[in-house]
Amino acid sequence: MKQFTITLLLLGCLAVSMATTVTGKVVGVMDGDTIEILSNRQTYRIRLDGIDCPEKNQAFGTVAKQVTSQLCFGMTVKAKVTDKDRYGRFVARVILPSGGELNATLIKNGYAWHYKQYSKDSYYASLETSARIERRGLWADINPIPPWEYRRGVTSKKAVSPITGLYMASVNSRVFHKPSCEQAKRIKAANRRWFQTRVDAVKQGYKACKYCKP
Ligand SMILES: [Zn+2]
Repeated sequence: MKQFTITLLLLGCLAVSMATTVTGKVVGVMDGDTIEILSNRQTYRIRLDGIDCPEKNQAFGTVAKQVTSQLCFGMTVKAKVTDKDRYGRFVARVILPSGGELNATLIKNGYAWHYKQYSKDSYYASLETSARIERRGLWADINPIPPWEYRRGVTSKKAVSPITGLYMASVNSRVFHKPSCEQAKRIKAANRRWFQTRVDAVKQGYKACKYCKP
């Protein structure tokens, strides 16, 4: 009897996992947060859970799509389905062949926002915080517009924090500048890091520019 119960339990788990996981090849990338998986000759459109990528016409919208493609296109992934959205798409966490998670990777590198309205995931929240602090990807922008606001028609935002008083540094040279310095302007957006105070910059091992003397 005991053995029978265990078998039943195992079968139960198996049924649940089969119903909630789609394993297949990524055959399409619609945008940074929506992909298509081919599994058993059926195509599934998957909306990545807990994240929201910039829209096509927003800064980093196209880049986010390219990054998602580079990370998963043509690869066999495992989509752990958490929900179905109002468009009938599966909402899922996508596990890459490396074992890493696509959703988390996109937030971590600044190609997606944590979609707080639909996700309370504290890990995603912390990844976004680090990406913001490090000014990775879309966070190079002082005032990026959340995609959910952009879709509602918001196209510009008043600066929350003025540029004056901030220090711009290069993660490559590890030198910090006044934002007005010619050298600072030459730092590529992806390599920029901002500091609120001089002390913060020095503490992180950054050196002051010889020319603008910040
Ligand atoms: Zn300088």
